[in-house]
Amino acid sequence: MYSNSFNIKKITCLIAASIILVLTSCKDTSSTLSDVLVGDEVASRTGFYFDTVISISIFSLEKDGNYSFKERADKILDGCMQISDRYDKLLSAEKENSDIWNINNSNQKETVVSKDTFELIETSIKYANLSNGAFNPSLGSIISLWNFTSNDNQIIPDKKDIEKNIKHTDFCNVIVNKDKSSIIISDNDTKINLGAIAKGFIADKIKDYLCKEKVKSAIINLGGNVLLVGSKPNGSDFKVGIEKPFEGSSTYACVVNASDKSIVTSGVYERYFEKDDKIYHHILDPKTGYPVENSLYSVSIISDKSVDGDALSTACFVLGLDKGMELIEKTKGVEAVFITNDYKLHTSSGFPKIK
Ligand code: ADP
Ligand code: MG
Repeated sequence: MYSNSFNIKKITCLIAASIILVLTSCKDTSSTLSDVLVGDEVASRTGFYFDTVISISIFSLEKDGNYSFKERADKILDGCMQISDRYDKLLSAEKENSDIWNINNSNQKETVVSKDTFELIETSIKYANLSNGAFNPSLGSIISLWNFTSNDNQIIPDKKDIEKNIKHTDFCNVIVNKDKSSIIISDNDTKINLGAIAKGFIADKIKDYLCKEKVKSAIINLGGNVLLVGSKPNGSDFKVGIEKPFEGSSTYACVVNASDKSIVTSGVYERYFEKDDKIYHHILDPKTGYPVENSLYSVSIISDKSVDGDALSTACFVLGLDKGMELIEKTKGVEAVFITNDYKLHTSSGFPKIK
């Protein structure tokens, strides 16, 4: 998963400006994440996992007489980083001996995977079916032809390579066996890549852990995948800024007030390179193997579970405004805002009032 190599420039940029900024200060919409740390009791940790910058901030915890807020929060944040590290090693398509790497290098042999990996592959297949293959967890061989991350080697892949590999992206080639928690890939050239859903899944697992540790108020931000735990310590909603595409981190297209929700964005401006005045971005059309070309700049999804938001943001981006909106309207408990390339906002029927 998580496309290519580590890029220091990208990190600095992401720390300053994740795709979605959470504005925990009630003051105004131009606050940055660091503003909110002033004056509030908060413990934060930043790390680099899943090929992106992650940050977790805890604002409130159930009291424990023996330890201070800071002592307990620090320990819990250690736990969050350990969870992230474990999932990075389990779900990366590139890390040798990860579950996904093992499946992709199994030569069609049955591969037993962890319960978590199995659950995520099953969920991925569900979303592949639900979106008619717009979200495709078996695009691995095509994804590895592209490089949207590091500045070197950003070339358009050879057409022949795309044509050859696109024939090996049918997600029906991924055969699951729940009893054995095992996977067989029936076509040796079909490769799994869960980069479009894994961060959402992992955010949910981190939230489960935080709740188990009696955290009452926190923000999990995995490279712009935001998952809120509870509300602000004073009981009011968090404010989540949805970035205006290509305008930099502190310009928002809209601000959403929310508690306990996931807000995830897929956009053309996240990872891309330019060649001959054309933008090549990282969301690929499974029919062609090339970046999706439609009227969209971004799709943001509000949902309870981040795994659903992550899968749906990618799926809806590929489906485009009309079909994507149709999918959102028929899926219970999710709302979306689509931003088109004329910077217009298109919201689903239950989307919160935009501020
Ligand atoms: P982000 O990388 O910010 O989480 P997405 O959730 O939209 O954004 O995931 C995009 C990533 O998923 C790409 O970098 C690529 O690895 C992979 N991908 C690209 N197109 C598709 C697709 N149609 N279906 C599934 N995965 C995809
Ligand atoms: Mg996604």
